[in-house]
Amino acid sequence: MPEITFQPQQLRRYVTEVCAALGSEGREAELVADQLVGANLAGHDSHGVGMMPAYVRGVLAEQLFCNRHATVARDGDAVLVVEGNRAFGQVAGYEATELAIERARRTGVALVALRNSFHIGRIGHWGEQCAAAGMVSLHFVNVAGHPPVVAPYGGSDGRFTTNPVCIAIPAAGGRPPVLLDMATSVIALGKVRVARNKGEQVAERALLAADGQGTTDPEVMFSRPQGAIMAFGDHKGSGLAIMCELLGAALSGGDTTAPHHARDGSVLNSMLSIVIDPGAVTSHDALIAEAEAFCDHVKASPVRPGFDEVLLPGEPEARSRAARAEGIPVDDGTVAELRLAAEEAGLAADRVAALLG
Ligand code: NAD
Repeated sequence: MPEITFQPQQLRRYVTEVCAALGSEGREAELVADQLVGANLAGHDSHGVGMMPAYVRGVLAEQLFCNRHATVARDGDAVLVVEGNRAFGQVAGYEATELAIERARRTGVALVALRNSFHIGRIGHWGEQCAAAGMVSLHFVNVAGHPPVVAPYGGSDGRFTTNPVCIAIPAAGGRPPVLLDMATSVIALGKVRVARNKGEQVAERALLAADGQGTTDPEVMFSRPQGAIMAFGDHKGSGLAIMCELLGAALSGGDTTAPHHARDGSVLNSMLSIVIDPGAVTSHDALIAEAEAFCDHVKASPVRPGFDEVLLPGEPEARSRAARAEGIPVDDGTVAELRLAAEEAGLAADRVAALLG
């Protein structure tokens, strides 16, 4: 499918102007742009500016509210429970993560349960926020508010969603953090959307049609009855997805995908973050030195046929950032959705044309 290449700054301007048209004040639009354009730069278009149409729909449907913030519901010093208040997830996620970093600096470790925020996007963004502050972090996340789309191992219909998990270890000397950030489904739902917009098929063993048979056609996730995405890694990945739901939401007091919770079509995330100050366990420098030695050892494994090199988690994103610094390709299907969303948000047609061409 044809695509248009945008400068990162152009996409930032699109996001900030659409947010402003929706009513965002203060830093809100900048925080949304930081994360969405950051996801495009990292190569995760599924969580990039292509999310704006869902956010515009969310605001217009009063499922997502501009200018709301995370609020502390319970303060137990090293344990904080934070309400997401259906604020922009980019605001609630940023604020909850800042709180976690500040607490971990004081107490050595902080456990922050953020519940029922609107979509908090690419979880690696929060791991990077912690790593930039020199912290180790673990994040377990669930997704609720809309019908579940991921089938458990052995099941045939959606019972939970793409429940991401992220673990970040800081690095030094300009190296990117070691950052595992992944959906627990074979593919993220956003990647099914991107494949559909591009008119492409998805990989084998990722999707089930509504009759429980395997398929590569992304359309099964957008038709009724709906198909399902498979959890990654058979019983092990399915088990990790279930734990993300139980830690991210059941422990946090957020909505799980159990049927007694309302499903109004919104995208709600709950996230349990554990943020650790390495200085409270070993020393920051000792962690960095040992991690570097270990990672060098891992990367030196002789490459097997079919591979070019051994990459660490986080390296593909760092490379994408370098490659996309001068231009981010966006497929025509997504650009058309962005245009429509901007007009729905209230931007004049000539301004939309100036922003997106
Ligand atoms: P992915 O499969 O592209 O990458 C997963 C991890 O594997 C990353 O840490 C990456 O660095 C690493 N990796 C990729 N290729 C590698 C290679 N060749 N060698 C070594 N490591 C490699 O990611 P995904 O599972 O498609 O998830 C995409 C994004 O979706 C993530 O940022 C996730 O946080 C986000 N997500 C968000 C939600 C939400 O509700 N907010 C839900 C699901 C997923």
